[in-house]
Amino acid sequence: MFTNRFLRVLKMGKRLKGKLRRFLLCLLYPSRVQEHVRKREGECDQCGACCKIVLSCPFLIEYGSHTACRIYNSFRPMACRTFPLDQRDIEDVEHHCTFFFPDKQGSRETAQLIVPVWRTEKNES
Ligand code: SF4
Ligand code: SF4
Repeated sequence: MFTNRFLRVLKMGKRLKGKLRRFLLCLLYPSRVQEHVRKREGECDQCGACCKIVLSCPFLIEYGSHTACRIYNSFRPMACRTFPLDQRDIEDVEHHCTFFFPDKQGSRETAQLIVPVWRTEKNES
């Protein structure tokens, strides 16, 4: 029980560190962020996992398996627009993200199995 709690605290610390890292990178090194973004492949399937790292974002709307952002077209922070920046970010969402980084062969294989499709009423039924 103590071990579980300790592991949970460790995981939360790692995720908080990731949040801070992304925030600072976007704030201080926007050109480096763009380089990272160019390296990723795949597309977002709106799972919302990156909006629930540590705490669920107050702008997140969830309806069934779909999610949406209330400020998607207005004030969505750069850290949200550019998620994930690297493999560490994908680990922060426990590999739910459908983006992948081709240089990480293992993650590419996993990501290709999860075919990123835009969810619609048609293909869900
Ligand atoms: S602002 Fe929007 S995209 Fe960013 S975490 Fe919140 S709901 Fe997600
Ligand atoms: S975790 Fe990845 S696939 Fe899911 S909403 Fe965030 S960017 Fe999109």
